[in-house]
Amino acid sequence: MDPHAIRVFGAVHRYHQGPGAIGLAGEVAASLGRQPLLVADEIVHGLVFDTAAAACRAQGLELRWVAVRGDVTQAAVRALVAAAREGGHAPDVVLAAGGGKGVDTGKAVARELGARLIVLPTSASNDGPCSKAFVYYDDAHRMVSVEFLPRNPDAVLVDTRVLVRAPRTLLVSGVGDALCKLYEGDQVRASGGLNLFAGAGTIAAQQLSIACERVIREDAVEGLQALDGGAPTPAFERLIEALVLLSGLAFENSGLSLAHSITRGLPLAAGSETTLHGFHVGYGLLVQFILEDRSPDFLAAQLAFHRSVGLAVNLAGLGVRDPGAATIRAIADGTMSSPHLRHFQRPLSAADFETAMHRLEALAGA
Ligand SMILES: [Zn+2]
Repeated sequence: MDPHAIRVFGAVHRYHQGPGAIGLAGEVAASLGRQPLLVADEIVHGLVFDTAAAACRAQGLELRWVAVRGDVTQAAVRALVAAAREGGHAPDVVLAAGGGKGVDTGKAVARELGARLIVLPTSASNDGPCSKAFVYYDDAHRMVSVEFLPRNPDAVLVDTRVLVRAPRTLLVSGVGDALCKLYEGDQVRASGGLNLFAGAGTIAAQQLSIACERVIREDAVEGLQALDGGAPTPAFERLIEALVLLSGLAFENSGLSLAHSITRGLPLAAGSETTLHGFHVGYGLLVQFILEDRSPDFLAAQLAFHRSVGLAVNLAGLGVRDPGAATIRAIADGTMSSPHLRHFQRPLSAADFETAMHRLEALAGA
């Protein structure tokens, strides 16, 4: 059977978003199991535990907590699983809470326990909450592997009253991570690539990607303003749906391309570790546009939009200390190891990336 002939669409089973959504944790946990376990760091515990535990208690469930410390490493996950089972407990529902790290750790613990999974994102900094993927790191914070759950999360609860209090830079990162999905998906579609379910894309995936991009263009600036007021607004709610639900559905059901490829190269540039994933892929999207031979007007409009939301338009904006030719060459070489490179309209060399990055530096400085 040719996988390119089989359309596949996968998704989170239930998605709840709005002010106070964490209060649904009890009802949702009770529909999935009897022994809920919160996996979160100490700060996130402070944000969500009391509300989630009260909601669980109202359903006759006792919510326990294991504390996440440090990176998502295999050793850390083994220790958390052991702690979760202490005293003869057998948690059957994991509540994975936090930004990227807490959610990924919770996903890993849920997989090891064979438990159901509820994700409670406390920021919209990336596309992870709805997806079945997570990343293992080593102790030096180097990515070791991309891992997959046997299925997407059973539920995602997005409490916008919590998210509106998250730092601005996390939300801007989420904008960068979501904005590229339409353009990366278009490259996957044009090159006949497979999505993350190892099948062909669907009309649904393409339309969700289009909606994701449109909402960001229309609502990102106004949505970001909600952070100043400290309360969710309609634009904020729409933006969060784009960053958490639509972005997650878009990338898993379409696939990734150049914007994400560059995250393989950027860690080789000293200083880039000071900025978040979404800033890196936002920069990568601009490089992708140049390699797509977009018109000068299109590129100018893209740079203007990036600036309007606070995304970086050059290497200095990513914190890179020496954005010179040697650094650009190293990034280009590192990028060539990405598996997403084959999702592009033509084969690319490291020299192509170098040229494009130099051009972007010039455009951004102009
Ligand atoms: Zn991403």
